[in-house]
Amino acid sequence: MTMLVKGNGVSRGISIGPVHLFEHGQAEIVRYDIKKSQLKNEIKRFKKAHKSAIAHLQNVRQSIPSDAPADIASFIDSHLLMIDDVPLKKAPLQIIEKQLCNAEWALSIQKNKLVQIFDQMQDSYLKTRRNDVEHIITLIQNFLIQEQSSDAIPPHSDIKKLKGHIIVADDLAPADTIMFEHQKIGGFVTEYGGTTSHTAILARSLGIPAIVAVPNIRNLLTENEIVIIDGNTGTLIAGADEQLLRQFRKQKKAQKEYQKQLETLKNKPTRTRDGVDIKLMTNIELTEDIRALKHSSAEGVGLYRTEFLYIDRHHAASEEEHFAAYKRILRAANNHPVTIRTLDLGAEKEFDPDYEGPLAPNPALGLRAIRRSLKNPEMFLQQLRAILRASVHGEVRILIPMLTSMRELEQIMQLYKLAQQQLNKQKKNFRTDIKIGGMIEVPAAAIAAETFGRHLDFLSIGTNDLIQYSLAIDRIDEEVNYLYDPLHPGVIKLIDMVIQAGEHLGIPVAMCGEMAGDSRFTTLLLAMGLKEFSVHPNNLLEIKRIIIDSDISTLKRKYHRIITSHNPSRLTEFCTN
Ligand code: PEP
Ligand code: MG
Repeated sequence: MTMLVKGNGVSRGISIGPVHLFEHGQAEIVRYDIKKSQLKNEIKRFKKAHKSAIAHLQNVRQSIPSDAPADIASFIDSHLLMIDDVPLKKAPLQIIEKQLCNAEWALSIQKNKLVQIFDQMQDSYLKTRRNDVEHIITLIQNFLIQEQSSDAIPPHSDIKKLKGHIIVADDLAPADTIMFEHQKIGGFVTEYGGTTSHTAILARSLGIPAIVAVPNIRNLLTENEIVIIDGNTGTLIAGADEQLLRQFRKQKKAQKEYQKQLETLKNKPTRTRDGVDIKLMTNIELTEDIRALKHSSAEGVGLYRTEFLYIDRHHAASEEEHFAAYKRILRAANNHPVTIRTLDLGAEKEFDPDYEGPLAPNPALGLRAIRRSLKNPEMFLQQLRAILRASVHGEVRILIPMLTSMRELEQIMQLYKLAQQQLNKQKKNFRTDIKIGGMIEVPAAAIAAETFGRHLDFLSIGTNDLIQYSLAIDRIDEEVNYLYDPLHPGVIKLIDMVIQAGEHLGIPVAMCGEMAGDSRFTTLLLAMGLKEFSVHPNNLLEIKRIIIDSDISTLKRKYHRIITSHNPSRLTEFCTN
């Protein structure tokens, strides 16, 4: 019997192969009390397991083949940093002492506490960092109960046998993924995780299809049964008959050929059929994206989400860390502009695992992005100094997230001047011609784009938030996901206002939200006059193909007819034809 299940397709492509059910081997954790006289011993037990877990991670780190994707190493590095940090090194000891309980249980308490904090975060990427905490704590617990999680990793000789297999797991720890290097695996399917989970990131990095968020899938499949996975649609099919298998094999072949064709566009200019040059840039956030940037034909970085510097460490990145990261990206960008967005962190306490006070009633409308930076000028100045210092290594642009009021812009400019004065005092070099742009994400800012634009060098439309705020739907709340509509006439009107404001003022307008990288909307955006797109590296060539195949004057005529008809369904037609 054929079974079809749906999940979230996070890495494109089709794969057909036998299932390998992957188990982590997590043992059940129970609480038992310890006497005061046993305290010393329990602390010793914890410290020993903690040390063994570090040694294990270090071994894993060393065993990473030099040609494995850089993300695998960076995940293990971030785990090594986290395991040595206070919440995982000191806090469990305090719980053991205070509650007189066993070390495994103290770790479980600490895990729940940290997971709760991560769950309250707004940013979907940050939310998924809870997996890191869970993986590390499980690792220490397994050492405590003598069930090292390395047992879950098959010995090296078995790895070869997994070639072409579809790995089906609850979720994958970075250490587990080391055996999946060299593209031996056909694909991943996991019960948990989102677009920014490790599995998703690694699958994209390895270039293999992956589906996440398929509940209970491990109980529905058996080892070695043949399944089809389609990462484009997030579909898994088991028990397919020969005809269906043939159909998917054909599709897989066609997709491979299409991808090959796209590769041939790499060195072509991004110019429409009627000769309009379009700037196609890329969004980056992780090390995998830096690699992609080097090998892509992007004309620079349209959005670098710097808050990702903070994620794996639970504490603020230092000026030197900011500086080193920016310098690295500028070098990879090969003289193309790099747009560094200042921190878009959520409510201030989200990053402090020890925080126990009240949380913002509505974090998306609270102290996030530039609001938070301005509330903490020292942190903002530190980032500005790092950007300024890095500016001598390439072409930097600064982008301000969630700009809402002109007063904010004044404060930003004052602090920017102050950062320059501080560097002058320290006799540090920087460029004085750095362009400063504003992200248009708040509907009021879109309506007033012309006012903001007069004081800025460029604008960048953040559609993810612009849609969230204009349609009043939380972008991470699945319950209202059905309302998320980039083609809502109100959203289109706001985008149009920003593009028109840029044209009027003669300043560039880019789009860096997901809408820019969604090929369904490319011709519409071209018709609306958008000339700068910043998209995820994976979508770059697909968007380039559409741009190269487009004739803007024809598109504009068609758009004008549709927009004056005031019939929203015709916009959908525009995007589907
Ligand atoms: C956006 O809001 O469109 C955007 C690009 O920013 P982020 O997704 O990081 O909020
Ligand atoms: Mg945003």
